[in-house]
Amino acid sequence: MSVTPTPVSDLRILITGGARGIGGATARLLAADGAHVMIADILDDEGRALAAELGPNAIYRHLDVTDAEDWAAAVAAAEERFGSLNALFNNAGIVSFGGIVDQTPEEFRRIVDINLNGVFLGLHTTAPALKRAGGGVVVNTSSTAGLQGYGGIAGYVASKWGVRGLTKAAALDLAPDNIRVMSLHPGPIRTPMTAAMDDTTVQAQPLPRFGEPDEVARMVRFMLSEASFSTGSEFVTDGGAVTGQVLNMPDTDPA
Ligand code: NAP
Repeated sequence: MSVTPTPVSDLRILITGGARGIGGATARLLAADGAHVMIADILDDEGRALAAELGPNAIYRHLDVTDAEDWAAAVAAAEERFGSLNALFNNAGIVSFGGIVDQTPEEFRRIVDINLNGVFLGLHTTAPALKRAGGGVVVNTSSTAGLQGYGGIAGYVASKWGVRGLTKAAALDLAPDNIRVMSLHPGPIRTPMTAAMDDTTVQAQPLPRFGEPDEVARMVRFMLSEASFSTGSEFVTDGGAVTGQVLNMPDTDPA
């Protein structure tokens, strides 16, 4: 038996945080391949401009991922405009600096609300629409911070581990409806989010550079279209950052 990939041109996808960065690069790549794309964000000017640039297959919608009413309205609008919705890229997220002691409880709640509760609301609201479409696919953006710890970004790490776990739960719950759910784990990528970080951040990686948004977008396209036997799975694109560590060994050459 052969299982053919879903052609990208069959995708009718909602992308949160789609106005710029990784979400914007993914909207560009998918629209160029013929997908119907709803760019959803709170950056209305940038989102509208990108949708206009991408042409009639792309539309912009204001969507704050923490707002259940925004979600319901966006899903209804996507179904009306595209006929159905069969894919979701839960990409919106923020980073906020602060460790266990100096991050305020309010800031911890805020980042978890956007990065984790927003992903739950997206799954919760779109799953019935994906089921109506006969099945679908969801990519949830975690991070290498969902695979290991980092100091100084406690809320971010907690939220991204949560996304990884929620992805497993959703994959199990939604498989009977022919919906695949996967988590995406980028390392440091050159977007506005990492603008304040310099190259020392990536020096210890096997590939010692920042990734480009388009490199992540190509991974997302693969997950949505080609990865037909994957669900609950973790897809890492990080220049080898979580591969391990090269040890400084003493010189053991007997000569
Ligand atoms: P970005 O350029 O800052 O894009 C994120 C987008 O999400 C922005 O347009 C942002 O708007 C929007 N957003 C923020 N809060 C929102 C909300 N409540 N509702 C809807 N949209 C909201 O960041 P990026 O680097 O492309 O990041 C995209 C995703 O990848 C995030 O989940 C991030 O955690 C993850 N990630 C990024 C990296 C990296 O190195 N860049 C690495 C690993 C994972 P505002 O500007 O108004 O906040």
